[in-house]
Amino acid sequence: MSNEKIIIVGGGGAGVSAAQAIRSVNSTIPVTIVTKESIKPYFRPVLTSLLESLDGENKKGFFVKDEQWFLDNNIEFITDFNVAKIDSENKTLVNSNGMSLSWSKLIIATGSEPLVIPDAFRHRKNVFTVRTIEDTRRLYNFISGVSSVLISGGGLLGLEAAWYILRRGITVHVSEYFKRLLPRQLDEDGGAYLTDIISKSGVKLHTGACIKDFSGETYLDVVLDNGEELKAGCIVYSVGVKSSFPELTPEPPKLERGIIVDEHMRSSIDNIYACGDCAQFGNFIPALWMVALKQGETAGKNAAGGDAVYQHQLYPAMLKAFDTHVMSVGSIEGSFIENRTANSFMRLFHDENGNSKGAWCIGDPQRATKLIKMVKDSSPAESSVFH
Ligand SMILES: Cc1cc2nc3c(=O)[nH]c(=O)nc-3n(C[C@H](O)[C@H](O)[C@H](O)COP(=O)(O)OP(=O)(O)OC[C@H]3O[C@@H](n4cnc5c(N)ncnc54)[C@H](O)[C@@H]3O)c2cc1C
Repeated sequence: MSNEKIIIVGGGGAGVSAAQAIRSVNSTIPVTIVTKESIKPYFRPVLTSLLESLDGENKKGFFVKDEQWFLDNNIEFITDFNVAKIDSENKTLVNSNGMSLSWSKLIIATGSEPLVIPDAFRHRKNVFTVRTIEDTRRLYNFISGVSSVLISGGGLLGLEAAWYILRRGITVHVSEYFKRLLPRQLDEDGGAYLTDIISKSGVKLHTGACIKDFSGETYLDVVLDNGEELKAGCIVYSVGVKSSFPELTPEPPKLERGIIVDEHMRSSIDNIYACGDCAQFGNFIPALWMVALKQGETAGKNAAGGDAVYQHQLYPAMLKAFDTHVMSVGSIEGSFIENRTANSFMRLFHDENGNSKGAWCIGDPQRATKLIKMVKDSSPAESSVFH
């Protein structure tokens, strides 16, 4: 009897995409997904919107695959299985309860975890992050009893969370380390335009400011490092993520910010693949849903004996909140053409030959789609795109 068995560690987007890809090339090899969450794979990007209403958990599209899909595809799915250690020599893994499983090929798809709640604050009461459905439910319930919330981090996720919490009638403060919003996605004028929209919504923005300290139990008295003081029922940290993966023995794979993988999503250790937020392809980790799916697909096909190659594409960053739509793609430096209407503002950046290389667009989703295409195709940057 064959000892072949593929285990996927991590039941997020990358993990389930890997399982699907395995089945696209091999219908019989045993496949098991283990995950430390207590729930089947769900669409993680929806979590921030659940801070307004947990009803979204029951809506179509929350789960990536329904129960029947796992049965039909003969994919074993084990929840509450926290992999503590992987032994690449004996091809086993063990969870935090000491339960061991064997594999012939392993796909690590363990995602990432929220970054840097300073150690001094990590275990204090009333401090939250939003990474899992459990985190989201906990925060949702907690803020039912408070009148104001401070979000530390005014990036895309922090702003989205701010919007959905604001819609519950709760006062929302956002403290942002940078002097202006979304400096990676918008230039100074774009940032100022968005700041205006957000300030008018009622969110209290504190830019160029980090939390210095806070005290209190029921209500936190917070001091920012620019000297401002405010009161909040809780603090939500949204300051980025870092790759997360279990210990590998006897040798770790090559690591930098994540598990280093080649274009086949192979790690430096034979028969071990990595994909999604825990994997580093090239010199960066995009931490995007679509990238996790594509990398999972590549890892799954190759683990099942295929020869798939991952090619990184340009994916736009989006924010749908504050009754507007923000898109940013590619490089937003240098020469540009622009368009401004009563409700929108956009810029298309081009290289010295006049070819599109980046864009941002606030308030016009349709035009945003066109701009993305122009940047992806490096089309000549012509102002007809605005009309
Ligand atoms: C609130 C929020 C909003 C987002 N919005 C967007 C968006 O709008 N657009 C976008 O492109 N991306 C967005 N993202 C990012 C996107 O969700 C991630 O890039 C994507 O989920 C990565 O998928 P993954 O499968 O690699 O990791 P994950 O989705 O993190 O899944 C990893 C799984 O592995 C499990 N795991 C971890 N360690 C272990 C272990 N030791 N043992 C067993 N299981 C383990 C985890 O519990 C988890 O279930 C958002 C993320 C969050 C948190």
